[in-house]
Amino acid sequence: MIKTHTLGFPRIGENRELKFALESHWRGESSEEDLRATAHELRLKHWQAQIDSGLDFITVGDFSFYDQMADHIQLLGCEPARFEFKPEQSALQRYFTMTRGKSTEDHACKHAHETWALEMTKWFDTNYHYMVPEFTAATVFKAHTENLVEQIEQAKTLNHPIKVSLIGPLTFLFQGKSKQANFEQFDLLEQLLPVYGQIMAELKVHGIEWVQFDEPILGLDLPGNYLAAFERCYLQLKTSDLKILLATYFSSTQGHTSAVCKLPVDGLHIDCVRAEEDLPLVLDWLPNYKVLSLGLIDGRNVWKTDLQAALHQIAKSFEAGKGEVWVAPSCSLLHVPYRFTSDTAVNTEVLPWLAGAIEKLEELELIKQAAKAHLHGKTLSGALNTLWNEHQNTVRQRASSPLLNNAEVKGRLAALIPTADQRGSEFAIRQKLQRERFNLPAFPTTTIGSFPQTKNIRNLRSRFKKGEIDKTAYWQHISQEIRQAIEFQERIGLDVLVHGEAERNDMVEYFGEQLEGFTFSANGWVQSYGSRCVKPPILFGDVARPKAMTVDVARFAQSLSEKPVKGMLTGPVTILQWSFVRNDQPRATTALQIALAIRDEVADLEQAGIGIIQIDEPAYREGLPLRKAKWDEYLQWASKAFRISASPVRDDTQIHTHMCYSEFNDILPAIAAMDADVITIETSRSDMELLCGFGEFHYPNEIGPGVYDIHSPRVPLQNEIVRLIRKAAEVIPAENLWVNPDCGLKTRGWEETEAALAVMVSATQQLRGEL
Ligand code: GLN
Ligand code: ZN
Repeated sequence: MIKTHTLGFPRIGENRELKFALESHWRGESSEEDLRATAHELRLKHWQAQIDSGLDFITVGDFSFYDQMADHIQLLGCEPARFEFKPEQSALQRYFTMTRGKSTEDHACKHAHETWALEMTKWFDTNYHYMVPEFTAATVFKAHTENLVEQIEQAKTLNHPIKVSLIGPLTFLFQGKSKQANFEQFDLLEQLLPVYGQIMAELKVHGIEWVQFDEPILGLDLPGNYLAAFERCYLQLKTSDLKILLATYFSSTQGHTSAVCKLPVDGLHIDCVRAEEDLPLVLDWLPNYKVLSLGLIDGRNVWKTDLQAALHQIAKSFEAGKGEVWVAPSCSLLHVPYRFTSDTAVNTEVLPWLAGAIEKLEELELIKQAAKAHLHGKTLSGALNTLWNEHQNTVRQRASSPLLNNAEVKGRLAALIPTADQRGSEFAIRQKLQRERFNLPAFPTTTIGSFPQTKNIRNLRSRFKKGEIDKTAYWQHISQEIRQAIEFQERIGLDVLVHGEAERNDMVEYFGEQLEGFTFSANGWVQSYGSRCVKPPILFGDVARPKAMTVDVARFAQSLSEKPVKGMLTGPVTILQWSFVRNDQPRATTALQIALAIRDEVADLEQAGIGIIQIDEPAYREGLPLRKAKWDEYLQWASKAFRISASPVRDDTQIHTHMCYSEFNDILPAIAAMDADVITIETSRSDMELLCGFGEFHYPNEIGPGVYDIHSPRVPLQNEIVRLIRKAAEVIPAENLWVNPDCGLKTRGWEETEAALAVMVSATQQLRGEL
């Protein structure tokens, strides 16, 4: 028997209806009822799409007003105490306080009180952010199924089998955070399981047969206690006599695949795209009476599936004796756009190669029909056969398309000399030459690149894009912005200036738009967090740089000041990480191609007289594979790609890089291996803790630890910054320290930016006076 299903579906809506409904509700322009009505409509539409595509189940429980982990916090009744029940607040209001925070005026003591939101962090190695559950010894759980039951009742009106999707108890605990010293949230498991049990019982009452438990932590290097708990945990859940599909994805279950196959569940889902190597083992070890769900369609990327290859895996599963095979996307479709068909912006040759969520559902149906025919020793006939052939032709056409290939780029990469990723001299020599050239004071001050992206600037860009103003008028305005930014920085006395990035919409899109091998969609939105969506560029072919991308702007900005103005680029790893990239060659190859394009830009900037060039790599850390065993390989090519982009320059040209808040400690050698002359990092919120690692490691090059938090409009006090710089100087030699904010300032207003940077400069001057 063969069935199809999906682990989850994008909830933001084809035209981001949920985003707009949420934001209108948050502005107070629509009621909770309006918002609920939109949600109801969207869910019905998404379930209907699943039914129309022939899926055997519709999936319920994947919808969320903000984030699925946050939903589980309410479902399991473990909201942290600061979001306590207030009779005047609805559950949804409480939910939004938890996900977004709230400041309220307390009139009695005339103070603004803040209920800070839950922390947000990336969901495994995706660009989706989830709300982190908080645990203490006092945490208690209690089932609140109203919200889930409401959705089930809605789904039932469609008269189609339902599968409920929940986050598994161990993933829920593991992805949370203990907020109490010496307390391990794992100890809460015994209390948590009965509550999951109650939820199961409730689902049973509502006529549910199948529950999907997502346990993606099975793809991590799991601590022994979590691993050992799986059996006990699912044994306990099994008693409810609902059928359980255990879902793993994103990474191989290597090391514990056999244990996973033996768990007391009724079915197992594996990711055959990211963890193809698991399949033969699972075919061996999973008892044949259990359902095997094959994640054959890539839920993390946008390319059409080779259906023949998928069919082959299904056939193998039946040959291995599996009785019931389900076919699904590898993971939830949350991570891909709704639909590409009829997108007006994508390169028309590339468009047919793409599959969003809707197209992926259609692929499922084709695979199912073909597999059914195959089981009966037949082939597809009629309309289905035509569809199949068309689909496979498209897949083949992509594979052999000249559009993918640029012989020059391939040749250049193949012929790259081994020293192409090395600067002329080692850092100590470069440092000396750079000091002579730039003659900067102690604790040089700089910013990370962007200045406030005002409404004016955004309007200007969108008018230019729509063709309402011409290039000359556009450039006139932009150059005015740059002029003002330079004047401002000179006025307050920063040492190394930036042009402010007013001409850039987004740090990846800006470069992707100018590089060959990329295309962009009009509507390919993917949820990032809450109502925020991103539209990742689509990298389909060999990457080449037809002409300089930033040189004119950099030259102009530099002409306005005697002080160095940094050339500003995005690094190869970040461009790769934040795009949908081709799957027909290793990521490493794609990264190196991007690196060559950036390298040429770096060389051109130097040629144009730019002495300091910053290559941002905020996504360097997040590119790490989920399994430690694979880290080395990634770090090798990632640091090489960076060095290739950074190395064509003279010794006295200074290369900077920037990384946002990351866990740096376990990858310090790889950061040092990038060999940037200066790295600026986000540290202020960690109170310089993060910098200690760099100190202990004896990080060899110069560092600019962020001295104030740019995520808040609050203007720092001089003594706060002084204290942070002093703290930094305790762990890093003072002569290697730079002073800068945590990150770019594009989300800030000018008023607080001017004030904060002025304070930063005076704090630095105070310290220089003491030297
Ligand atoms: N140069 C970029 C900016 O300042 C860096 C942004 C980032 O680190 N994400 O906006
Ligand atoms: Zn940053």
